[in-house]
Amino acid sequence: PKSRDGYQWTQATGLVQGVPTLGLIQPSTHFTKNKRYDVIVIGGGYAGLTTCRDLALAGNNVLLIEARDRIGGRSWSSNIDGYPYDMGGTWVHWHQPFVWRELRRYGMMDQLEVSPRKNVEGGAKVTVNLDGEVKHISHDEEDATVESAFKKFINVDGDFGRSVIPYPHDIELNMAGVEKYDHMSMADRMAQVALHLTPLEKNMFEGFLAITHGAKWEEASFFELLRWWALMNYNYPDFMAIGLTYKLRDGQSALARRIFDEAVATGRLDYTFSTPVMNVVDHGNGVEVTARNGVEVFKARRIVCTVPLNVLHTLAFTPALPALKTEASLAGHVNKVVKCHAEVANPEMRSLGATNYPNGRLTYTFGDGTTPAGNTHLVAFGGSLPGVHLDPEQDIQVTKKAFEAFHPDMNVRRLVFHNWHKDEFARGAWEWLRPGMTTKYLQALRERHGNVFFASSDSSFGWRGFIDGAIDDGGRVAKIVHDELRVVRPVASKL
Ligand code: FAD
Repeated sequence: PKSRDGYQWTQATGLVQGVPTLGLIQPSTHFTKNKRYDVIVIGGGYAGLTTCRDLALAGNNVLLIEARDRIGGRSWSSNIDGYPYDMGGTWVHWHQPFVWRELRRYGMMDQLEVSPRKNVEGGAKVTVNLDGEVKHISHDEEDATVESAFKKFINVDGDFGRSVIPYPHDIELNMAGVEKYDHMSMADRMAQVALHLTPLEKNMFEGFLAITHGAKWEEASFFELLRWWALMNYNYPDFMAIGLTYKLRDGQSALARRIFDEAVATGRLDYTFSTPVMNVVDHGNGVEVTARNGVEVFKARRIVCTVPLNVLHTLAFTPALPALKTEASLAGHVNKVVKCHAEVANPEMRSLGATNYPNGRLTYTFGDGTTPAGNTHLVAFGGSLPGVHLDPEQDIQVTKKAFEAFHPDMNVRRLVFHNWHKDEFARGAWEWLRPGMTTKYLQALRERHGNVFFASSDSSFGWRGFIDGAIDDGGRVAKIVHDELRVVRPVASKL
Protein backbone atom coordinates (compact mmCIF):
# COMPACT_ATOMS: atom_id res chain seq x y z
CA PRO A 1 0.00 0.00 0.00
CA LYS A 2 1.42 3.33 -1.14
CA SER A 3 1.01 6.73 0.46
CA ARG A 4 0.85 9.83 -1.74
CA ASP A 5 3.74 11.20 0.33
CA GLY A 6 7.43 10.88 -0.46
CA TYR A 7 9.41 10.15 -3.61
CA GLN A 8 11.50 7.30 -4.90
CA TRP A 9 13.93 7.16 -7.80
CA THR A 10 15.66 4.22 -9.44
CA GLN A 11 17.19 4.03 -12.92
CA ALA A 12 14.46 1.59 -13.96
CA THR A 13 11.44 3.53 -12.69
CA GLY A 14 12.63 7.13 -12.85
CA LEU A 15 11.23 9.50 -10.23
CA VAL A 16 7.95 8.26 -8.75
CA GLN A 17 5.80 10.14 -6.25
CA GLY A 18 4.39 8.10 -3.36
CA VAL A 19 6.04 5.24 -1.49
CA PRO A 20 4.76 2.20 0.41
CA THR A 21 4.40 2.59 4.17
CA LEU A 22 3.06 0.73 7.19
CA GLY A 23 1.47 4.04 8.15
CA LEU A 24 -1.14 4.09 5.36
CA ILE A 25 -4.65 3.68 6.76
CA GLN A 26 -7.19 1.83 4.61
CA PRO A 27 -10.09 2.20 4.38
CA SER A 28 -9.43 5.84 5.05
CA THR A 29 -12.58 6.68 6.97
CA HIS A 30 -14.46 5.14 9.84
CA PHE A 31 -16.92 7.46 11.58
CA THR A 32 -20.60 8.03 12.26
CA LYS A 33 -22.21 11.01 10.53
CA ASN A 34 -23.64 13.73 12.76
CA LYS A 35 -22.28 12.06 15.90
CA ARG A 36 -21.19 14.45 18.64
CA TYR A 37 -17.79 13.23 19.82
CA ASP A 38 -16.23 13.96 23.18
CA VAL A 39 -13.04 15.10 21.48
CA ILE A 40 -11.87 15.75 17.94
CA VAL A 41 -8.11 15.51 17.46
CA ILE A 42 -6.77 17.38 14.44
CA GLY A 43 -3.58 15.78 13.13
CA GLY A 44 -2.29 12.21 13.46
CA GLY A 45 1.43 12.75 14.13
CA TYR A 46 2.86 11.48 17.41
CA ALA A 47 1.23 14.29 19.42
CA GLY A 48 -2.20 13.55 17.91
CA LEU A 49 -1.88 9.76 18.07
CA THR A 50 -0.89 9.86 21.73
CA THR A 51 -3.79 12.20 22.50
CA CYS A 52 -6.22 9.89 20.67
CA ARG A 53 -5.00 6.75 22.39
CA ASP A 54 -4.91 8.19 25.90
CA LEU A 55 -8.36 9.74 25.56
CA ALA A 56 -9.90 6.63 24.00
CA LEU A 57 -8.39 4.36 26.66
CA ALA A 58 -9.80 6.65 29.33
CA GLY A 59 -13.31 6.16 27.95
CA ASN A 60 -13.83 9.15 25.66
CA ASN A 61 -15.27 8.94 22.15
CA VAL A 62 -12.67 10.44 19.86
CA LEU A 63 -12.51 11.39 16.18
CA LEU A 64 -9.12 11.81 14.50
CA ILE A 65 -9.12 14.12 11.47
CA GLU A 66 -5.91 13.90 9.43
CA ALA A 67 -5.04 15.73 6.20
CA ARG A 68 -2.76 12.99 4.85
CA ASP A 69 -3.60 9.41 3.87
CA ARG A 70 -1.33 8.09 6.64
CA ILE A 71 -0.45 8.42 10.32
CA GLY A 72 2.85 9.70 11.73
CA GLY A 73 3.06 13.26 10.42
CA ARG A 74 6.72 14.29 10.38
CA SER A 75 7.83 10.83 11.59
CA TRP A 76 7.12 8.07 9.09
CA SER A 77 8.98 5.42 7.20
CA SER A 78 8.68 4.19 3.67
CA ASN A 79 8.94 0.42 3.69
CA ILE A 80 10.46 -0.52 0.35
CA ASP A 81 11.05 -4.24 -0.32
CA GLY A 82 10.77 -4.82 3.41
CA TYR A 83 13.42 -2.22 4.23
CA PRO A 84 12.56 1.04 6.02
CA TYR A 85 13.76 4.51 5.09
CA ASP A 86 12.79 6.98 7.80
CA MET A 87 11.60 10.06 5.97
CA GLY A 88 11.48 12.37 8.99
CA GLY A 89 11.97 11.64 12.71
CA THR A 90 14.21 8.61 13.18
CA TRP A 91 16.55 8.33 16.15
CA VAL A 92 15.38 7.65 19.69
CA HIS A 93 17.15 7.04 22.99
CA TRP A 94 16.46 6.01 26.58
CA HIS A 95 17.24 9.57 27.64
CA GLN A 96 13.97 10.45 25.91
CA PRO A 97 11.56 9.17 28.54
CA PHE A 98 8.24 9.45 26.74
CA VAL A 99 9.19 7.61 23.58
CA TRP A 100 11.08 5.02 25.64
CA ARG A 101 7.94 4.34 27.62
CA GLU A 102 6.13 3.69 24.33
CA LEU A 103 8.79 1.24 23.12
CA ARG A 104 8.56 -0.61 26.44
CA ARG A 105 4.75 -0.59 26.32
CA TYR A 106 4.73 -2.27 22.90
CA GLY A 107 7.63 -4.62 23.62
CA MET A 108 9.81 -3.08 20.93
CA MET A 109 13.09 -2.95 22.83
CA ASP A 110 14.52 -5.75 20.71
CA GLN A 111 13.78 -3.76 17.55
CA LEU A 112 16.51 -1.15 18.01
CA GLU A 113 19.15 -0.87 15.31
CA VAL A 114 22.43 0.98 15.51
CA SER A 115 22.56 3.29 12.56
CA PRO A 116 26.14 4.57 12.10
CA ARG A 117 28.76 1.82 12.09
CA LYS A 118 32.04 3.59 12.22
CA ASN A 119 34.48 0.72 12.53
CA VAL A 120 33.74 -1.65 9.67
CA GLU A 121 37.00 -3.47 8.92
CA GLY A 122 38.54 -2.05 5.73
CA GLY A 123 35.51 0.20 5.35
CA ALA A 124 35.32 3.79 4.18
CA LYS A 125 36.35 6.50 6.66
CA VAL A 126 35.56 10.21 6.74
CA THR A 127 36.01 12.54 3.78
CA VAL A 128 35.93 16.30 4.26
CA ASN A 129 35.79 18.80 1.42
CA LEU A 130 37.76 21.76 2.75
CA ASP A 131 37.92 24.61 0.21
CA GLY A 132 37.92 22.17 -2.70
CA GLU A 133 40.62 19.97 -1.18
CA VAL A 134 39.32 16.55 -0.12
CA LYS A 135 40.83 15.36 3.16
CA HIS A 136 40.55 11.85 4.58
CA ILE A 137 40.41 11.55 8.34
CA SER A 138 39.44 8.86 10.83
CA HIS A 139 36.15 8.82 12.69
CA ASP A 140 38.09 9.54 15.89
CA GLU A 141 39.57 12.68 14.31
CA GLU A 142 36.12 13.69 13.08
CA ASP A 143 34.71 13.38 16.59
CA ALA A 144 37.66 15.20 18.18
CA THR A 145 37.37 18.08 15.70
CA VAL A 146 33.63 18.59 16.03
CA GLU A 147 33.74 18.13 19.81
CA SER A 148 36.47 20.74 20.22
CA ALA A 149 34.53 23.29 18.15
CA PHE A 150 31.22 22.44 19.83
CA LYS A 151 32.62 23.02 23.31
CA LYS A 152 34.01 26.43 22.37
CA PHE A 153 30.68 27.38 20.82
CA ILE A 154 28.60 26.21 23.78
CA ASN A 155 30.74 27.31 26.68
CA VAL A 156 29.04 30.63 27.43
CA ASP A 157 29.24 30.25 31.22
CA GLY A 158 32.45 28.34 31.93
CA ASP A 159 30.25 25.35 32.79
CA PHE A 160 29.21 24.22 29.30
CA GLY A 161 25.71 25.64 29.63
CA ARG A 162 24.79 24.02 32.97
CA SER A 163 24.24 27.32 34.76
CA VAL A 164 22.11 28.67 31.87
CA ILE A 165 19.89 25.59 31.60
CA PRO A 166 20.02 23.79 34.96
CA TYR A 167 16.76 21.91 34.20
CA PRO A 168 16.66 21.00 30.50
CA HIS A 169 13.07 19.76 30.67
CA ASP A 170 11.86 22.88 32.45
CA ILE A 171 13.65 25.85 30.95
CA GLU A 172 11.05 28.13 32.55
CA LEU A 173 12.82 27.61 35.89
CA ASN A 174 15.61 29.92 34.74
CA MET A 175 14.08 32.48 32.41
CA ALA A 176 17.04 34.84 32.82
CA GLY A 177 19.20 32.25 31.11
CA VAL A 178 16.61 31.71 28.39
CA GLU A 179 16.10 35.37 27.50
CA LYS A 180 19.72 36.35 27.15
CA TYR A 181 20.60 33.56 24.75
CA ASP A 182 17.24 33.37 23.02
CA HIS A 183 17.83 36.82 21.58
CA MET A 184 21.20 35.73 20.24
CA SER A 185 21.30 34.24 16.74
CA MET A 186 23.64 31.51 15.57
CA ALA A 187 25.39 34.22 13.52
CA ASP A 188 25.90 36.32 16.68
CA ARG A 189 27.44 33.40 18.52
CA MET A 190 29.62 32.38 15.57
CA ALA A 191 30.98 35.94 15.41
CA GLN A 192 32.08 35.59 19.06
CA VAL A 193 33.95 32.30 18.65
CA ALA A 194 35.01 32.09 14.98
CA LEU A 195 38.55 33.33 15.68
CA HIS A 196 39.06 30.53 18.18
CA LEU A 197 38.26 27.77 15.67
CA THR A 198 40.83 26.13 13.38
CA PRO A 199 39.87 26.12 9.65
CA LEU A 200 39.00 22.40 9.86
CA GLU A 201 36.96 22.90 13.04
CA LYS A 202 35.10 25.82 11.51
CA ASN A 203 34.31 23.96 8.32
CA MET A 204 33.16 20.72 9.95
CA PHE A 205 31.25 22.37 12.80
CA GLU A 206 29.52 24.92 10.58
CA GLY A 207 28.53 22.10 8.25
CA PHE A 208 27.12 20.21 11.24
CA LEU A 209 25.22 23.25 12.54
CA ALA A 210 23.84 24.15 9.11
CA ILE A 211 21.85 20.93 9.13
CA THR A 212 20.93 21.16 12.81
CA HIS A 213 18.93 24.38 12.48
CA GLY A 214 18.38 24.24 8.72
CA ALA A 215 18.17 28.02 8.30
CA LYS A 216 20.20 31.12 7.59
CA TRP A 217 22.58 31.79 10.49
CA GLU A 218 20.92 35.04 11.53
CA GLU A 219 17.42 33.46 11.51
CA ALA A 220 18.15 30.68 14.00
CA SER A 221 18.15 31.18 17.77
CA PHE A 222 21.34 30.17 19.59
CA PHE A 223 19.28 29.23 22.65
CA GLU A 224 17.80 26.28 20.75
CA LEU A 225 21.27 24.78 20.39
CA LEU A 226 22.04 25.37 24.07
CA ARG A 227 18.77 23.61 24.89
CA TRP A 228 19.60 20.62 22.67
CA TRP A 229 23.04 20.41 24.25
CA ALA A 230 21.55 20.47 27.78
CA LEU A 231 18.97 17.81 26.86
CA MET A 232 21.78 15.68 25.43
CA ASN A 233 23.52 15.65 28.83
CA TYR A 234 25.82 18.66 28.23
CA ASN A 235 28.45 16.72 26.30
CA TYR A 236 29.34 15.76 22.76
CA PRO A 237 29.53 11.94 22.97
CA ASP A 238 26.03 11.85 24.44
CA PHE A 239 24.85 14.37 21.82
CA MET A 240 25.79 11.90 19.09
CA ALA A 241 24.61 8.84 21.01
CA ILE A 242 21.21 10.31 21.82
CA GLY A 243 20.65 12.28 18.64
CA LEU A 244 21.95 10.02 15.89
CA THR A 245 22.35 6.40 16.95
CA TYR A 246 19.33 4.18 17.69
CA LYS A 247 16.51 3.71 15.23
CA LEU A 248 13.72 1.17 14.81
CA ARG A 249 14.18 -1.98 12.74
CA ASP A 250 10.90 -1.47 10.85
CA GLY A 251 11.00 2.33 10.88
CA GLN A 252 9.00 4.92 12.78
CA SER A 253 5.70 3.94 11.13
CA ALA A 254 5.87 0.65 13.04
CA LEU A 255 5.65 2.51 16.37
CA ALA A 256 3.01 4.98 15.14
CA ARG A 257 0.97 2.00 14.00
CA ARG A 258 1.08 0.38 17.46
CA ILE A 259 -0.31 3.53 19.07
CA PHE A 260 -3.02 3.93 16.44
CA ASP A 261 -4.02 0.25 16.56
CA GLU A 262 -4.28 0.26 20.35
CA ALA A 263 -6.55 3.31 20.18
CA VAL A 264 -8.75 1.76 17.47
CA ALA A 265 -9.01 -1.48 19.47
CA THR A 266 -10.81 0.40 22.25
CA GLY A 267 -13.75 0.84 19.86
CA ARG A 268 -13.79 4.51 20.79
CA LEU A 269 -11.53 5.98 18.09
CA ASP A 270 -13.11 6.95 14.78
CA TYR A 271 -11.08 8.57 12.02
CA THR A 272 -11.10 10.28 8.68
CA PHE A 273 -7.93 10.54 6.61
CA SER A 274 -7.24 12.72 3.54
CA THR A 275 -9.41 15.30 5.28
CA PRO A 276 -7.60 18.65 5.72
CA VAL A 277 -9.35 20.80 8.30
CA MET A 278 -10.23 24.32 7.20
CA ASN A 279 -12.49 25.84 9.90
CA VAL A 280 -12.89 25.43 13.62
CA VAL A 281 -15.87 27.18 15.20
CA ASP A 282 -16.24 27.22 18.98
CA HIS A 283 -19.87 27.81 20.01
CA GLY A 284 -19.05 27.75 23.71
CA ASN A 285 -21.11 24.64 24.39
CA GLY A 286 -19.34 22.68 21.67
CA VAL A 287 -17.09 22.96 18.66
CA GLU A 288 -17.67 22.38 14.93
CA VAL A 289 -14.94 21.48 12.50
CA THR A 290 -15.25 21.77 8.74
CA ALA A 291 -12.95 20.10 6.26
CA ARG A 292 -11.61 21.68 3.11
CA ASN A 293 -14.18 19.96 0.89
CA GLY A 294 -16.86 21.70 3.00
CA VAL A 295 -19.13 18.66 2.88
CA GLU A 296 -18.79 17.27 6.36
CA VAL A 297 -19.25 19.14 9.65
CA PHE A 298 -17.75 17.30 12.61
CA LYS A 299 -18.92 18.06 16.17
CA ALA A 300 -17.33 17.59 19.56
CA ARG A 301 -17.23 18.96 23.08
CA ARG A 302 -13.50 19.69 22.88
CA ILE A 303 -10.83 19.92 20.16
CA VAL A 304 -7.16 19.08 20.41
CA CYS A 305 -5.29 20.75 17.56
CA THR A 306 -1.88 19.21 16.84
CA VAL A 307 -0.98 20.75 13.48
CA PRO A 308 2.63 21.99 13.18
CA LEU A 309 3.45 25.55 14.26
CA ASN A 310 4.09 26.56 10.64
CA VAL A 311 0.65 25.29 9.59
CA LEU A 312 -1.51 26.69 12.42
CA HIS A 313 -2.20 30.03 10.71
CA THR A 314 -3.70 28.24 7.68
CA LEU A 315 -6.70 27.06 9.76
CA ALA A 316 -9.53 29.55 10.41
CA PHE A 317 -10.68 29.74 14.03
CA THR A 318 -13.86 31.39 15.29
CA PRO A 319 -13.42 33.19 17.63
CA ALA A 320 -10.05 34.15 16.15
CA LEU A 321 -6.90 32.81 17.80
CA PRO A 322 -5.14 35.14 20.25
CA ALA A 323 -2.71 37.44 18.40
CA LEU A 324 0.41 35.81 19.89
CA LYS A 325 -0.48 32.37 18.54
CA THR A 326 -1.14 33.67 15.04
CA GLU A 327 1.94 35.87 15.07
CA ALA A 328 4.12 32.94 16.16
CA SER A 329 2.73 30.73 13.40
CA LEU A 330 3.17 33.40 10.74
CA ALA A 331 6.77 34.00 11.85
CA GLY A 332 7.17 30.21 11.97
CA HIS A 333 10.09 28.08 12.91
CA VAL A 334 12.96 28.29 10.45
CA ASN A 335 14.13 24.75 9.81
CA LYS A 336 14.14 23.77 6.13
CA VAL A 337 16.55 20.88 6.40
CA VAL A 338 16.53 18.42 3.51
CA LYS A 339 16.82 14.73 4.33
CA CYS A 340 17.61 12.26 1.56
CA HIS A 341 18.37 8.54 1.44
CA ALA A 342 20.46 6.69 -1.11
CA GLU A 343 21.00 3.00 -1.67
CA VAL A 344 24.53 2.68 -3.04
CA ALA A 345 26.21 -0.42 -4.46
CA ASN A 346 29.23 0.12 -2.20
CA PRO A 347 29.11 -2.21 0.83
CA GLU A 348 32.31 -0.63 2.19
CA MET A 349 30.46 2.69 2.57
CA ARG A 350 28.52 1.30 5.53
CA SER A 351 31.15 3.07 7.66
CA LEU A 352 31.43 6.19 5.51
CA GLY A 353 31.09 9.64 7.01
CA ALA A 354 31.39 12.59 4.63
CA THR A 355 30.92 16.34 4.76
CA ASN A 356 30.69 18.76 1.87
CA TYR A 357 30.28 22.28 3.25
CA PRO A 358 29.63 25.05 2.27
CA ASN A 359 29.19 24.24 -1.44
CA GLY A 360 27.45 20.86 -1.33
CA ARG A 361 23.71 20.66 -1.93
CA LEU A 362 23.88 17.87 0.63
CA THR A 363 26.22 18.72 3.49
CA TYR A 364 26.62 15.56 5.53
CA THR A 365 26.12 11.85 4.98
CA PHE A 366 26.81 8.63 6.83
CA GLY A 367 26.04 4.91 6.57
CA ASP A 368 22.60 4.24 8.05
CA GLY A 369 22.09 0.55 7.24
CA THR A 370 22.53 -2.38 4.85
CA THR A 371 19.66 -3.08 2.47
CA PRO A 372 18.30 -6.58 1.65
CA ALA A 373 20.37 -6.45 -1.59
CA GLY A 374 23.55 -6.07 0.49
CA ASN A 375 23.98 -2.45 -0.54
CA THR A 376 24.73 0.44 1.78
CA HIS A 377 21.96 2.76 2.84
CA LEU A 378 23.31 6.30 3.24
CA VAL A 379 21.33 9.07 4.89
CA ALA A 380 22.21 12.66 3.97
CA PHE A 381 21.16 16.11 5.07
CA GLY A 382 21.33 19.48 3.39
CA GLY A 383 20.75 22.93 4.85
CA SER A 384 18.94 25.88 3.34
CA LEU A 385 21.68 28.42 2.86
CA PRO A 386 21.11 30.59 -0.23
CA GLY A 387 22.40 29.06 -3.43
CA VAL A 388 22.71 25.49 -2.15
CA HIS A 389 19.22 24.62 -0.91
CA LEU A 390 18.05 21.44 -2.59
CA ASP A 391 14.50 20.57 -3.61
CA PRO A 392 15.35 16.93 -4.30
CA GLU A 393 12.45 16.17 -6.64
CA GLN A 394 13.05 19.19 -8.87
CA ASP A 395 15.95 17.71 -10.83
CA ILE A 396 16.81 14.21 -9.73
CA GLN A 397 20.20 14.34 -11.48
CA VAL A 398 21.19 17.25 -9.23
CA THR A 399 20.20 15.20 -6.18
CA LYS A 400 22.14 12.19 -7.43
CA LYS A 401 25.19 14.37 -8.07
CA ALA A 402 24.91 15.82 -4.56
CA PHE A 403 25.44 12.28 -3.26
CA GLU A 404 28.19 11.50 -5.76
CA ALA A 405 30.02 14.66 -4.64
CA PHE A 406 30.66 12.99 -1.27
CA HIS A 407 32.84 10.24 -2.74
CA PRO A 408 34.18 9.55 -6.27
CA ASP A 409 33.33 5.83 -6.11
CA MET A 410 29.71 6.26 -5.14
CA ASN A 411 27.31 4.14 -7.22
CA VAL A 412 23.78 5.40 -6.53
CA ARG A 413 21.03 2.82 -7.20
CA ARG A 414 18.06 4.34 -5.40
CA LEU A 415 17.02 7.70 -3.90
CA VAL A 416 14.21 8.12 -1.35
CA PHE A 417 13.04 11.37 0.25
CA HIS A 418 10.21 13.63 1.45
CA ASN A 419 10.46 17.36 0.77
CA TRP A 420 9.30 18.75 4.11
CA HIS A 421 9.48 22.44 3.44
CA LYS A 422 7.35 22.11 0.29
CA ASP A 423 4.83 19.98 2.20
CA GLU A 424 1.69 22.02 2.93
CA PHE A 425 0.92 20.06 6.11
CA ALA A 426 4.38 20.52 7.61
CA ARG A 427 5.94 23.63 6.02
CA GLY A 428 9.31 22.76 7.46
CA ALA A 429 11.24 20.02 9.25
CA TRP A 430 11.78 19.76 13.02
CA GLU A 431 11.10 22.91 15.03
CA TRP A 432 13.90 25.49 15.40
CA LEU A 433 12.69 28.91 16.54
CA ARG A 434 13.92 32.34 15.48
CA PRO A 435 15.78 34.58 17.93
CA GLY A 436 13.40 35.85 20.63
CA MET A 437 10.57 33.44 19.85
CA THR A 438 10.97 31.10 22.80
CA THR A 439 10.71 34.02 25.20
CA LYS A 440 7.85 35.70 23.42
CA TYR A 441 5.63 32.90 22.19
CA LEU A 442 6.24 29.52 23.82
CA GLN A 443 3.87 29.99 26.73
CA ALA A 444 1.13 31.45 24.52
CA LEU A 445 1.38 28.55 22.07
CA ARG A 446 0.53 26.07 24.83
CA GLU A 447 -2.53 27.90 26.11
CA ARG A 448 -6.04 26.68 25.39
CA HIS A 449 -8.44 28.83 23.40
CA GLY A 450 -11.94 28.20 24.77
CA ASN A 451 -12.77 24.58 23.98
CA VAL A 452 -9.73 24.21 21.73
CA PHE A 453 -6.51 22.74 23.18
CA PHE A 454 -3.08 22.55 21.55
CA ALA A 455 -0.47 19.79 21.63
CA SER A 456 2.65 19.67 19.52
CA SER A 457 6.29 18.77 19.52
CA ASP A 458 6.87 22.33 18.29
CA SER A 459 5.80 23.82 21.64
CA SER A 460 6.26 20.94 24.09
CA PHE A 461 8.22 20.84 27.30
CA GLY A 462 11.39 18.75 27.41
CA TRP A 463 12.37 17.37 24.02
CA ARG A 464 10.74 20.12 21.98
CA GLY A 465 11.37 19.48 18.29
CA PHE A 466 11.73 15.71 18.79
CA ILE A 467 9.50 12.63 18.69
CA ASP A 468 9.69 12.52 22.47
CA GLY A 469 8.33 16.06 22.78
CA ALA A 470 5.33 15.17 20.60
CA ILE A 471 4.45 12.14 22.75
CA ASP A 472 5.03 14.13 25.96
CA ASP A 473 2.70 16.90 24.83
CA GLY A 474 0.00 14.59 23.47
CA GLY A 475 -0.15 12.77 26.80
CA ARG A 476 -0.09 15.98 28.83
CA VAL A 477 -2.97 17.56 26.95
CA ALA A 478 -5.02 14.33 26.84
CA LYS A 479 -4.92 14.26 30.65
CA ILE A 480 -6.07 17.87 30.96
CA VAL A 481 -8.94 17.34 28.51
CA HIS A 482 -10.00 14.06 30.09
CA ASP A 483 -10.03 15.59 33.59
CA GLU A 484 -12.22 18.39 32.33
CA LEU A 485 -14.70 16.08 30.59
CA ARG A 486 -14.84 13.46 33.30
CA VAL A 487 -18.03 13.32 35.29
CA VAL A 488 -16.83 13.20 38.85
CA ARG A 489 -19.13 11.04 40.95
CA PRO A 490 -18.71 11.65 44.66
CA VAL A 491 -17.67 8.51 46.49
CA ALA A 492 -20.53 7.26 48.68
CA SER A 493 -19.49 7.74 52.26
CA LYS A 494 -22.24 5.73 53.97
CA LEU A 495 -20.87 2.75 55.79
P1 FAD B 1 3.45 16.29 13.13
O1 FAD B 1 4.12 14.97 13.09
O2 FAD B 1 3.80 17.26 12.08
O3 FAD B 1 1.88 15.99 13.13
C1 FAD B 1 0.94 16.97 12.78
C2 FAD B 1 -0.12 16.33 11.92
O4 FAD B 1 -1.10 17.33 11.57
C3 FAD B 1 0.42 15.80 10.59
O5 FAD B 1 0.07 14.45 10.44
C4 FAD B 1 -0.25 16.69 9.54
O6 FAD B 1 -0.50 16.03 8.33
C5 FAD B 1 -1.52 17.08 10.24
N1 FAD B 1 -2.14 18.28 9.68
C6 FAD B 1 -1.54 19.42 9.25
N2 FAD B 1 -2.46 20.29 8.78
C7 FAD B 1 -3.66 19.69 8.91
C8 FAD B 1 -4.99 20.08 8.61
N3 FAD B 1 -5.28 21.28 8.06
N4 FAD B 1 -6.00 19.21 8.87
C9 FAD B 1 -5.76 17.99 9.41
N5 FAD B 1 -4.50 17.58 9.72
C10 FAD B 1 -3.46 18.41 9.48
N6 FAD B 1 12.79 13.76 16.04
C11 FAD B 1 13.47 12.84 16.76
O7 FAD B 1 13.14 12.60 17.93
N7 FAD B 1 14.51 12.15 16.21
C12 FAD B 1 14.93 12.37 14.92
O8 FAD B 1 15.82 11.70 14.42
C13 FAD B 1 14.26 13.36 14.16
N8 FAD B 1 14.62 13.62 12.87
C14 FAD B 1 13.81 14.40 12.08
C15 FAD B 1 14.10 14.52 10.71
C16 FAD B 1 13.26 15.24 9.88
C17 FAD B 1 13.59 15.36 8.42
C18 FAD B 1 12.08 15.82 10.41
C19 FAD B 1 11.12 16.55 9.51
C20 FAD B 1 11.80 15.73 11.77
C21 FAD B 1 12.66 15.03 12.61
N9 FAD B 1 12.41 14.89 13.98
C22 FAD B 1 13.15 14.02 14.75
C23 FAD B 1 11.33 15.65 14.64
C24 FAD B 1 10.05 14.85 14.80
O9 FAD B 1 9.80 14.14 13.63
C25 FAD B 1 8.89 15.83 15.06
O10 FAD B 1 9.21 16.71 16.11
C26 FAD B 1 7.59 15.10 15.47
O11 FAD B 1 7.36 13.98 14.65
C27 FAD B 1 6.43 16.07 15.37
O12 FAD B 1 5.25 15.47 15.85
P2 FAD B 1 3.88 16.30 15.97
O13 FAD B 1 2.81 15.31 16.21
O14 FAD B 1 4.06 17.42 16.93
O15 FAD B 1 3.70 17.00 14.54
